[in-house]
Amino acid sequence: MDASLEGAVYAHDKLFDPFGQPGGAPMRTPVGPARTPVPPEEDRPKREPGPPLFKNVLPFKPPKATRVQLEVDELVRRLDAQAAGKTYEGWDWWKAHCPSHSDGRPSMTFHWNPTRSRYVFKCHAECEPGAIESAMLTWLDAHPTPPAPTEHTSYGREMDRYEYQDRDGTPIFHKRRYEPKDFRIYRRVGDGWTKGFGDLPNALRRLLYRLPQLQGQPVVWCPAGEKDVKCCEALGLVATTNCGGEGKRKWYAEHVQQLKDAGCALLIVLADNDEAGLSFAE
Ligand SMILES: [Zn+2]
Repeated sequence: MDASLEGAVYAHDKLFDPFGQPGGAPMRTPVGPARTPVPPEEDRPKREPGPPLFKNVLPFKPPKATRVQLEVDELVRRLDAQAAGKTYEGWDWWKAHCPSHSDGRPSMTFHWNPTRSRYVFKCHAECEPGAIESAMLTWLDAHPTPPAPTEHTSYGREMDRYEYQDRDGTPIFHKRRYEPKDFRIYRRVGDGWTKGFGDLPNALRRLLYRLPQLQGQPVVWCPAGEKDVKCCEALGLVATTNCGGEGKRKWYAEHVQQLKDAGCALLIVLADNDEAGLSFAE
C-alpha cells in the first residue's frame, strides 16, 4: 500500500466495520499523488501520420438491390401473411411461409424496421436471414403480383328486412332480402347492426319470426319463409317461420320450446317445409 495512504478510512472498511458507529468520524476520501500536468499542445511530440490502414474497410451493408423493397401492405398481400402481434418497439410482426426451406406451415416471421429501413426476417426452422431474403426475392420474381382482391360488397338491391325479436319485442337480429334473391343476417350490436350472427348464442339465433305476436295464440300457421308469413298476416292469420340464417331452414328444440311457451297447441305447417317441421306438426 502507498505510504501516504496509510491510516486512510476506505468506504469498504466502513461498510464492513461491525463496530462502526453512526455519527462517528466522517469518511475521508484518500487523495492520491498529484497528477503531472498535461503539457501545452505545441510542446507535445509530433507524430507522423501513418498509412490509412482502414481506409477501404466499411461496415458490411448489402446493396439495396438485394433487399426486399416492397411496401409492407404489398408484401403481406403477396405472401398472404398473417398478423402475429407486435415487436417490443411496437412494430407489426407478420407470419408467412418461409421461402428458404420447404415450409409446410408458416414458420417465418418478419417485420419492417423503419430505423434500418429494411425488413427483418426470422425463420423458426433456423434459415439464415440473408438466405431468406435472397430466396424471398427469387420467389417474388417467380410469382407475379396477383390482382387485388375485389371486395364483395354488393348483394344487389335490398328488398326487405325481416326483424327477429325476442318474446318482449326487443330486436335481436334481422335478415335482409336482396334482389337477385339473396339473404344476409345482421345482428344488433349497441345501437347499430353488424353483419352475421357473430357471437349470438343459439337460443337467440333460433328465435321464431314474429315471436311476440305468437304469445297466447293456440293456432299458428307456418309457411316456408318470412315473405309468406307476411302474406298469411295479410289474410288475418297468425304466422311464424324459423330463420335458416343464410342457408337451409332447420327445426331445433328451441323453436318447439318457444311455441310451447307461447301456448301454441296447433302449428299448421304449409308446404315447402322439411321433414322435421312436418313431424313436429303431426
Ligand atoms: Zn426457413
